[in-house]
Amino acid sequence: MITPWGYPDFDAHEGLYFVTNEKSGLRAIIAMHSTHLGPAAGGTRLWHYAQDSEGLTDALRLSRGMSYKNAMAGLPLGGGKAVVLADKDRTKTPEMLAAFGRAVNELGGKYVTAEDVGMSVADMIEISRQTKFVAGLPVEGGEVGGDPGPHTSLGVFLGIKAAVKRALGKDSLAGLHIAMQGAGSVAGGVCRHAAAEGARLSIADVDTARAEKLAAQTGGTVVSPADVLALEADVVSPCALGAILTEESIAALRTPIVAGGANNQLATPEDGQRIHQRGILYAPDYVINAGGIINVSTEYLGDGGPDLVRSRIEAIPGRLEQIWADSAATGRNPAAVADAMAQKLIGRG
Ligand code: NAD
Repeated sequence: MITPWGYPDFDAHEGLYFVTNEKSGLRAIIAMHSTHLGPAAGGTRLWHYAQDSEGLTDALRLSRGMSYKNAMAGLPLGGGKAVVLADKDRTKTPEMLAAFGRAVNELGGKYVTAEDVGMSVADMIEISRQTKFVAGLPVEGGEVGGDPGPHTSLGVFLGIKAAVKRALGKDSLAGLHIAMQGAGSVAGGVCRHAAAEGARLSIADVDTARAEKLAAQTGGTVVSPADVLALEADVVSPCALGAILTEESIAALRTPIVAGGANNQLATPEDGQRIHQRGILYAPDYVINAGGIINVSTEYLGDGGPDLVRSRIEAIPGRLEQIWADSAATGRNPAAVADAMAQKLIGRG
């Protein structure tokens, strides 16, 4: 029998909850990796997985990623994540969201949720009818809250600029070619920032209509999802789903920089070493994509306004610099450097 403790990626999670509500059809997993620095905070992903075990692995890996992300962003939050195991049509009803909200509430604030892939601001409003342990809610002008996506995009954009400075010695993205995987919330914001600075964009999404719309907005070109990671480009920016950097895709990369907002980009820890060995500069995902949780944290804890959010997001490039400098000094790959820093911060180093 496989116990949770023996499960791959379990990594000493403090809590792992399986939620079933037969009436609404809800099946969800809430994973709490660490509460060392504060409540386990991380969004809820609604996705269809071919196997339930894939959803569990996703929840565990995303939850650990949130522990690392929150620690590296200097936030007083631990790490957690929830996954709703959806059907093929990704059906989502108010009853399901209410049942999920009750489950979050029962954890008494040890887990705090917000949006992730498949969940919107409207869904957070629905969940907030059942629990106060939720963020990413709409706000009046001048307050902190709402969709974390644009904040994630800003951090990723600033992180890409830092990578370009380090690897190419350039202060601007003007004239540079960015290959963008995804055309959703995060990718959209990154593309708009980059286009405003004069970057040339190649955009791929499995939802072609989305890619076409974003390309039209940003003067970009739509490319095939099968080709985007292997395009010859100054930056490859993974902003869709995780585990896309594999032995095979890394061997095919034709870029000096991989920097994007998707969570868990490396399929295995060895892939961090593979990218490094190819001489490609990698921006550890949970460091570059912390803008959204920075906004969520500031909203939830009420410890500052939009200026604090902005200054915390503007600290992301400096943190990346620190990682790359350590990597250059020690020869360790940036992903391993970031993991070691984060583990120390959450008391597991
Ligand atoms: P989203 O649902 O708005 O967009 C994701 C897009 O990726 C969708 O358009 C989808 O069709 C596309 N996609 C899926 N598989 C693809 C593939 N193989 N090739 C090309 N496109 C594909 O989600 P989002 O909020 O933009 O999040 C994107 C990524 O960033 C996720 O990994 C998420 O966990 C991560 N992230 C998001 C935030 C945030 O604030 N939204 C914060 C941190 C990290």
